[in-house]
Amino acid sequence: MARLLKCPRCGQCDHKENMIYDEQTKRHYHQLACYDNMLKDRESTRIENEQWDALYQYIIKLHDLVVLPKGNITRLKDLRAGYIMKNGKQVRQWRTGPDFSLMLDAYKLAENDIKWCIANKLDNSNDIKAINYCMSIMINKLNEANDRRKRRRVIEKQKQKVSLQDKEINININNKVNIINDEMDITGFL
Ligand SMILES: [Zn+2]
Repeated sequence: MARLLKCPRCGQCDHKENMIYDEQTKRHYHQLACYDNMLKDRESTRIENEQWDALYQYIIKLHDLVVLPKGNITRLKDLRAGYIMKNGKQVRQWRTGPDFSLMLDAYKLAENDIKWCIANKLDNSNDIKAINYCMSIMINKLNEANDRRKRRRVIEKQKQKVSLQDKEINININNKVNIINDEMDITGFL
């Protein structure tokens, strides 16, 4: 009897013929659903890591650091998971929190305020407390960053619509030109 392989996605065993080999994990997944879902997850993890990296690089540059203290990292990751600190307590604020790229957008919106605070309120400090203080300024800009993102998406959709309409108009014009050319060709023969 042929050996059965265990799909890492659903945990069910199956024959090799029903499965797809994944080079990266060196495991066999069920064709279609399990394999596709695994690829989707892998892609969102890749995007998440990329966005985290961009945010991290931005913050260490902003605070002139080489590495970000662990406590600050934890707070950012908690925020991503939907938790915020209220009066020293962790409170669930959202089912899923803002993504790291939205936090980066919010940081950029708050950049002038933050730089002013670092110079005038925080005595140019870049310790965990000062970074936390600035993070709170960023959090206050999350709604504005989200509104801007939504508006950007509406504009992008409108642009796509317009370019689609342009294409249709161009096709219509081309068709008319072709018809005219055809007619001219015919008269040429007459
Ligand atoms: Zn499976």
